[in-house]
Amino acid sequence: MQSCDNCHVRIRGHKAVCPLCGGELSGTPEDPAFPLLPKRRYTSRMVFKSAIFCFFALFVVMGTIRYLMGPDAAWTSAVMLWAPLGLAGLFITMAYRYNVLKLISAEVYIAMILNLLIDIATGSHGWAVAWVIPSLFLALTIALFVTAKALSMKIGEYLVYLLLAEVLSFAQIIFIVRNTNPHPWYAVIVMAGMLLFILAELIFLFQDFRSATVRTLHL
Ligand SMILES: [Zn+2]
Repeated sequence: MQSCDNCHVRIRGHKAVCPLCGGELSGTPEDPAFPLLPKRRYTSRMVFKSAIFCFFALFVVMGTIRYLMGPDAAWTSAVMLWAPLGLAGLFITMAYRYNVLKLISAEVYIAMILNLLIDIATGSHGWAVAWVIPSLFLALTIALFVTAKALSMKIGEYLVYLLLAEVLSFAQIIFIVRNTNPHPWYAVIVMAGMLLFILAELIFLFQDFRSATVRTLHL
């Protein structure tokens, strides 16, 4: 058995240094106290490499089809346009796989930004600002609430994500003030609904709201 002369403790198994003081150990190590787990066969590194390979393979295959079929294969452009989104979605899923609400939020916010960019790139007709972004805020709020309920989460676990979506939805005021939203009535109705949700949460769930904020922001 190993022991630390400094801390006067005896240590089971095989340690390189003392777990208490980090100092040198004397004595002979034993077999590990816990059995070693066999290595997982599918690591996230493998998923990552496969995703990267599929991404480039898709471009090679789509590009070849496009070249061979000519204008008949216009759909290949759409596939190539959405492939980066699929890849981004996969990476977000891998990064946040233990926090499904964070995952849903991140994907929806990215979808909002991409729709906005596509709208701007295709002539700024304002469809993203007028219809897509308000709908995504609404969908995100519903998705967060339904998911949290389905997973029987405590209110403190999901309230922050819900509030974040509700508060961020007021950023739509910028588009209305700057006249980039051609039909503001839909965004206004969504924001009014969000304001009602926020008020209801503040009034009925004040205690939960406080503890959730304190926990999340480490106050
Ligand atoms: Zn020690």
